Amino acid sequence: MPETLASPGRLPLTDLSDDEAMFRDQVRQFAEEKVRPLVSKMDAEAKMPRELIDACFELGIMGIEIPDAHSGAGATFFMSILAVEELARVDASLAVLVDVQNTLVNNALLRWGTEDQKARYFPRLASRWVGAYALSEAGSGSDAFALSCRALDKGDHYELTGRKLWITSAAEAELFVVMATLDPGRGYKGITSFLVERSFPGFTVGKREDKLGIRASSTCELVLEGCRVPRENVLGEAGKGYKIAIETLNEGRIGIGAQMVGLAQGAFEHGLRYAQERQQFGKPIAEFQAVQFQLAELATEIEAARLLTYNAARRREAGDPFVKEAAMAKLFASRAAEHVTSKVIEVYGGYGFTREYPVEKYFRDQKVGQIYEGTTNMQLLVIAKQLLGKM
Ligand SMILES: Cc1cc2nc3c(=O)[nH]c(=O)nc-3n(C[C@H](O)[C@H](O)[C@H](O)COP(=O)(O)OP(=O)(O)OC[C@H]3O[C@@H](n4cnc5c(N)ncnc54)[C@H](O)[C@@H]3O)c2cc1C
Repeated sequence: MPETLASPGRLPLTDLSDDEAMFRDQVRQFAEEKVRPLVSKMDAEAKMPRELIDACFELGIMGIEIPDAHSGAGATFFMSILAVEELARVDASLAVLVDVQNTLVNNALLRWGTEDQKARYFPRLASRWVGAYALSEAGSGSDAFALSCRALDKGDHYELTGRKLWITSAAEAELFVVMATLDPGRGYKGITSFLVERSFPGFTVGKREDKLGIRASSTCELVLEGCRVPRENVLGEAGKGYKIAIETLNEGRIGIGAQMVGLAQGAFEHGLRYAQERQQFGKPIAEFQAVQFQLAELATEIEAARLLTYNAARRREAGDPFVKEAAMAKLFASRAAEHVTSKVIEVYGGYGFTREYPVEKYFRDQKVGQIYEGTTNMQLLVIAKQLLGKM
């Protein structure tokens, strides 16, 4: 074997270490045995059973990167990506709950939390507390730093007032990373990040959205009315919340790429199986070359999306620049998921268009991949800025 292929760090991107492969298999088995039987009910009722969330804690996938010393799994960012991919293969709603927990909330605390904050929150985030990440508001989505949620400095505490919109996992979460501004006149430089507990006075979770897809994932408004947040719950430095938001979202985006890869893979596997079972003109439709070619095209798109996603994740883990690669991964994987799920419905014919078969749900679930953690246009903007050296 040529030396370059044998040397570590130059392995094919989809080669997993023994630990990674074992972890991936565990999550896959969990998704098949514990999640798949519940998926259609969860979608119909728009509800995530608490027992399922508890099972995720027991499996150790809610604190993947949390160090052992704080009761976490002490594993890697890449493993978070594998977990999200495997869960999304079966259910994109559970996948995004696990994704936000690991790639946004735990990640933000890992990178910017004080020792005291880590000691207070990591053991809970690893064992029973769901986390949420609150940046968006009704008037500020893509233009996230135009946010208007206000933080007033009251000495030993801050008072937060405003509303947040679209907050994933808000119905279940106990800890919220909330971005608010200390001074709207200072633009992005006023933005500060706070660790807000659900039980803090002045904090309530508002209306839940009734959505097209990922229906079991809660998406709610947050209402902050003079919400009292202790000074020691500022995450990172006051006025540096914009940096936390930009950097966590750069990383979180790789998680959404993984969610879209897993979702596309899950839908594809249904299509592949169905094409070999469904008979027309006296033989399985998979024997028609037109259908074979369609399946081959879809498998190629999924492989390309997976390679982009793994590459971004491996680069991030290696400490290499990854911002452009992460945006490309999310951009491409979300488009691939849209195309794959749409074509798999066609493979199923009329049956694919009904709720009795699983593929229409994949089609509904994928759409959000082009919206959250930066719309498709925002990914293009990030990529273009990187190409033109403007970032
Ligand atoms: C299911 C769901 C879950 C979510 N979870 C969270 C969460 O947990 N936390 C959180 O903070 N947010 C969350 N969001 C919010 C999400 O990040 C925003 O919806 C997203 O950033 C887009 O913002 P917007 O909806 O206000 O759309 P807008 O920003 O109003 O965009 C509308 C359209 O205009 C385009 N556009 C806007 N500006 C430009 C520009 N400069 N150039 C080109 N095109 C542009 C956009 O690409 C888009 O097509 C969630 C959203 C959804 C739907």
